[in-house]
Amino acid sequence: MKEETIFDKILRKEIPCKAIYEDDDVLAFEDINPQAPTHILVIPKRKIPSFDALSQLEEAVVGSYIKKVAFVAKKLNLDKDGYRIVFNHGKDGQQTVNYIHAHILGGKQLQWPPG
Ligand code: 5GP
Repeated sequence: MKEETIFDKILRKEIPCKAIYEDDDVLAFEDINPQAPTHILVIPKRKIPSFDALSQLEEAVVGSYIKKVAFVAKKLNLDKDGYRIVFNHGKDGQQTVNYIHAHILGGKQLQWPPG
């Protein structure tokens, strides 16, 4: 059985979140510890443990998820001024929740490179 995570509980509504978008395929909600004025997490309802696992999945599933991330960013009106998408994977990537999540960061001039 795949590891149970906090995002599984959020999806089952056992833990509250500030949802900004939901449909049959994804849930988008505010990060509890925002790193930018807008910091949204987008998770697929079909569980995927990490970005790395996308390499094993059907292209249609991957494409549909990535397309939905872009849709949510546009819905947040971030497309004009820009935004950053982050997927952390594993220890060096500082992934802390083993359920794939796209971070959408925006609402200010972001710096580069990250640490
Ligand atoms: P990671 O480091 O795995 O890429 O990011 C996990 C993110 O989930 C972090 O930015 C963290 O603030 C966020 N997070 C962890 N627990 C919760 C929670 O219970 N609710 C919400 N909304 N975000 C959470």
